[in-house]
Amino acid sequence: MERKPLEFTPILMPYADLLPSFLNNQMVVVSPKKVYQSPFPRWYNPNTTCAFHGGVPRHSIEQCVAFKHKVQSLIDA
Ligand SMILES: [Zn+2]
Repeated sequence: MERKPLEFTPILMPYADLLPSFLNNQMVVVSPKKVYQSPFPRWYNPNTTCAFHGGVPRHSIEQCVAFKHKVQSLIDA
């Protein structure tokens, strides 16, 4: 089935609240990313961290496309 890449099923709770239960059930694994140094890429937000990406400064988990894709694939499954 074709799926447009940036459409996600609305979920009823913050993504930040989903992650701990997914981790407990081993449905996802945290994938740490490298920590950038200034000058930062334009998309990079050094003031917020993403637990799914190892808690490094980068983006908030609510903006984490990788985690949303993971959640979506679990919803679809
Ligand atoms: Zn992330």
